[in-house]
Amino acid sequence: MPDDIRQTTRAFVEKEISFDLAREIDQQDIYPDALLRKFSQTGLWGINIDEKYGGMGGHSVDAMPIYEELSRRLPVLAWVIGNIMLYGNDIIGINGSESQKEKFLPALAEGKLRFSFALTEPEAGSDAANISIKAVFHDGAYWITGNKMFITGAGVSDYVVTMTRTATHRYKGITAFVVDTSTPGYSANPLKKLGYHGSNTCSVHYENVRVRPEDVLGGESSLNQGWNQMVTLLNSERLALSACALGIGQAGLDEAIAFYKQHYRFSQPNGRFQAVQHALAEMATELEAARRLAYHAAWLVTQNVDCLKETSMSKYFTTETAKKICLRGIDLLGSEGGTLAYNLQRYLRDVLVLTIGGGTSQIQKNIIAKQIGLDQG
Ligand SMILES: Cc1cc2nc3c(=O)[nH]c(=O)nc-3n(C[C@H](O)[C@H](O)[C@H](O)COP(=O)(O)OP(=O)(O)OC[C@H]3O[C@@H](n4cnc5c(N)ncnc54)[C@H](O)[C@@H]3O)c2cc1C
Repeated sequence: MPDDIRQTTRAFVEKEISFDLAREIDQQDIYPDALLRKFSQTGLWGINIDEKYGGMGGHSVDAMPIYEELSRRLPVLAWVIGNIMLYGNDIIGINGSESQKEKFLPALAEGKLRFSFALTEPEAGSDAANISIKAVFHDGAYWITGNKMFITGAGVSDYVVTMTRTATHRYKGITAFVVDTSTPGYSANPLKKLGYHGSNTCSVHYENVRVRPEDVLGGESSLNQGWNQMVTLLNSERLALSACALGIGQAGLDEAIAFYKQHYRFSQPNGRFQAVQHALAEMATELEAARRLAYHAAWLVTQNVDCLKETSMSKYFTTETAKKICLRGIDLLGSEGGTLAYNLQRYLRDVLVLTIGGGTSQIQKNIIAKQIGLDQG
């Protein structure tokens, strides 16, 4: 199955996403809705949805080749599709109530629904459990008031799974609600960003947004279970982002190699020729090591063993490696590397954001340090 998935995605990229289109989406900050609709032709939207609900019955890590291949041409498309596959398909498939699964999963499997996930707040990023947005119960419903920040797709999604505070306990006082974005009081404003243009990353305001008890993710009995529900997705999230990084790293390396073949090979003295070759060899080696780490961690996830250390190492190493490759690639292109004629500057801007989203490199290192037995103070 993984090879088929990779081939299907690669064929989709070649058919539908020219480099010119990728550049236009980046430069004009366009949410790639038309491509999301076309992606339905691949039949891959339901890759991690149970067959009972119209999906392919795979695991979330089966989607990694999709993210990798899309990121090789248009990283933001992988980011947006991954967001829906994780925070629609997976979050509902793993934690949803039966009625939520029946309502959402068949439409998600057909690519007909857009989901976002709202955890981060202006005062709660890396320290995610510090969220303060409140959902207060009265008159038979919960009423959400407060702000969220950096929420991907929040201005275009049908539903936003929103993490709220429903009790004072740091972890056991958090509830996830499936919020319909057409509810009065919900508003989202896109932010201008360095990279991942087109991802519709927004600041979101909730002004007395009404949600029913049955809109708690998992149903009313899952009140105050939001933190545990989120934790079930963390390994998959880190690996999805790892796959995005692998694709960007490969794209950066490919462009640097193509440039080398065209510009250096027959025109430069031998010394420079070898120095550049060595740089490219190092980039290829580090990328290969990153790929092995990511897919080994993915295999561990499918074995249901504890692999927090490996998935954190993967997120940290793949994103930092891809960043290094893009920086080095731009260097090798000389002045051309800084021009919009080449894609490396776009890949670099995207990967700089990728080291932050889903837990920064510093946070991944904190987790790894703890996992190798170091005191956290
Ligand atoms: C493009 C983009 C899309 C995003 N999409 C979403 C989304 O859809 N939903 C969502 O909920 N969030 C989303 N986020 C938010 C993202 O998860 C947070 O930005 C990230 O967790 C970091 O939080 P912060 O920005 O508040 O940084 P901070 O937590 O304020 O961190 C600032 C700096 O301090 C460092 N730092 C913080 N704490 C520690 C520590 N304990 N030890 C060492 N260093 C530390 C960080 O590594 C970082 O370098 C997105 C972010 C971006 C950039």
